Amino acid sequence: MRFAFRHQVDGLIFDGDQVSGVHGTVLEPDTARRGAPSNRNAVGSFEFRAQAVVIATGDIGGNHEQVRRWWPSRLGTPPQKMLTGSRSTSTGACSTSRPSRASGS
Ligand SMILES: Cc1cc2nc3c(=O)[nH]c(=O)nc-3n(C[C@H](O)[C@H](O)[C@H](O)COP(=O)(O)OP(=O)(O)OC[C@H]3O[C@@H](n4cnc5c(N)ncnc54)[C@H](O)[C@@H]3O)c2cc1C
Repeated sequence: MRFAFRHQVDGLIFDGDQVSGVHGTVLEPDTARRGAPSNRNAVGSFEFRAQAVVIATGDIGGNHEQVRRWWPSRLGTPPQKMLTGSRSTSTGACSTSRPSRASGS
């Protein structure tokens, strides 16, 4: 198994209807302590391809726009003001971004 720290996934790569990888931004190294916000300075980009892609980037609770978008209708109108109980990284950015189409598809 290979870990790729400071690799921010920005979107999925599709071959037809099938997810075949991820693409994103390589972030500048940072000495922030565990749990503290770190910089988002881009120093490169990447693409990884795989037979199977599992997304485990947390929920969407850190992104109120997404929470309002997916608000269950049985709960009525989403509140104007909300508290965030999720991590700041829980934005749903990876799974809700526009797909990047693989070339030739
Ligand atoms: C303050 C607080 C207290 C909690 N206390 C408890 C508790 O006592 N007991 C309990 O059971 N649960 C608790 N939870 C809930 C628990 O932390 C979460 O349910 C759990 O961490 C979710 O795990 P996960 O692996 O799905 O997501 P996460 O732990 O959020 O991991 C997601 C990872 O994906 C990374 N990531 C996100 N976006 C990208 C991207 N675009 N590219 C690359 N990487 C990305 C993030 O940096 C993170 O490392 C608590 C949560 C909070 C916020």
